[in-house]
Amino acid sequence: MTDQSISTLGIGNPLDLMDRPSPETGPSGKPIVRTEQGVITEGSKVTWDRKAIFWSLPQPLLVAGSVLLAAAMVINEWGGEYYRVWTLLVAVSSTPVLLIAERFWAKKKSWLLKPDEMAEDVFWMASGGLLWAPIISDLYRTPVSEGFRALRDMSPLQIEFQPTTVLGLIGAMLIIRFTSSFFYYWLHRIQHESLFWWRMHATHHHLTKMSAMRGNRTHPFEYLALGLGTPIALALMGASDDVFIVSAAFGMWNGKFNHANLPMVSMPVWDWFFATAQQHHCHHALERRQADSNYGCDIIFWDRVFGTYCGDAEVGPAGAGKGVRLSIKDQLMLALYSDERLKSL
Ligand SMILES: [Zn+2]
Ligand SMILES: [Zn+2]
Repeated sequence: MTDQSISTLGIGNPLDLMDRPSPETGPSGKPIVRTEQGVITEGSKVTWDRKAIFWSLPQPLLVAGSVLLAAAMVINEWGGEYYRVWTLLVAVSSTPVLLIAERFWAKKKSWLLKPDEMAEDVFWMASGGLLWAPIISDLYRTPVSEGFRALRDMSPLQIEFQPTTVLGLIGAMLIIRFTSSFFYYWLHRIQHESLFWWRMHATHHHLTKMSAMRGNRTHPFEYLALGLGTPIALALMGASDDVFIVSAAFGMWNGKFNHANLPMVSMPVWDWFFATAQQHHCHHALERRQADSNYGCDIIFWDRVFGTYCGDAEVGPAGAGKGVRLSIKDQLMLALYSDERLKSL
């Protein structure tokens, strides 16, 4: 986004002021190529050998498979009275499955989490769960979930997504995801281009290792500002609880894959629409040029439309700023730091 378009949005302090280097060679040392749209690519292409084909399969298969399974469980009430609990377990099983896979097939051995780092992520996952679970789950009866239900009932939009078939549930989930991800795309992009909004998002980018456990490293302010976007869109569009559950299965499996320390390769065609691990690793790159791209965390389609898609297959170190690990205090407090201190991290 240019300075002009930032001022159109009424946003000051673009992160360009942050002095993060944007070298003219990528992490591999290969020269950077600027395309007509202004998107910069390294031109690194996947060589489609047997290994690449193998690593392109798990993400689409497991994400689509978990969505299909969740939808079938909900429609057929598999698991009896507690079928929704069982269906949510399909969604949350993504973390342990991918964590075990990381131990066998790590993309970078140096990214494997040490016990103290895992403990930190358990804290972030628990705090994410405390904010998320009341909103997306029937299991918790809290003022938040009641407010959410009230919002759904008050929605001025005369549309409802209350499907009663497996395909209907999946279709409704996709329509809602594509719609809400349009808003998410712009909110996320603004977070990268405005220092004020960056301070809520920086916690997520100051991770120096990728892992399936790390997708939840999100500041509470960001959960409140940005994380609520999808549930609010779901509510305004009159989505049933069952659509939430199928949406959770998609979001959790795709989100965990995207952060996982696994040598995933993006599946062509699938990766025109759905964000992949390789694309999201680019978004976590220390190199600013790569980090300020691929804003779609679930759906990559809008990046392709608005010219922020980065097709680099190769990613150097992960992180932001100086690229060093921050204490948990810094991760929590940085949202309140002065501009100078925030930029110095
Ligand atoms: Zn980001
Ligand atoms: Zn991320």
